[in-house]
Amino acid sequence: MRDHKVSYHRALLLHPSVRQEAIKGIEACEALLGPKAAVRIVQGLRTFPEQDALYAQGRTTPGPIVTNAKGGASLHNYGLAFDFALLYDRDNNGSYEQLSWSLTEDIDADKKKDWLEVVEFFETLGWGWGGRWKTKDNPHLEKGFGMTWREMLDKYNKGDFIKGTKYLNI
Ligand SMILES: [Zn+2]
Repeated sequence: MRDHKVSYHRALLLHPSVRQEAIKGIEACEALLGPKAAVRIVQGLRTFPEQDALYAQGRTTPGPIVTNAKGGASLHNYGLAFDFALLYDRDNNGSYEQLSWSLTEDIDADKKKDWLEVVEFFETLGWGWGGRWKTKDNPHLEKGFGMTWREMLDKYNKGDFIKGTKYLNI
């Protein structure tokens, strides 16, 4: 059985304008990929302090550099991005325990790369893929509704939020 608890928990912290689309999109992609694959959201919303801590890594704290974005410079900070990976049930025992970042796997042998099937599905819904960036970020999908992160940060700093939340009015 595919277990969506982790993904749904993360999806429910995304911006309200993309939440249902992320959940429905994952289910639609799984239908495309067949019964041996599941789509997992590995990260969704990242708070400003979390982003700053990530930026510090490899610069002022130990570890490798993993991002060039400070707090506010990533769409994750607004709940408008998520990173995904694929889970495969290679043994056919229903456990989907093998997390995969392969861009080339084709588990259902439909001559389409699973990773790109997910990417292309979300692209048709207006999402952007980090795999098309100069510095590739293959797990990354985001939906900015035509706004840059600077415009989002400006709104954020003005407190232009959906009432009672820290999600931007967009
Ligand atoms: Zn990302």
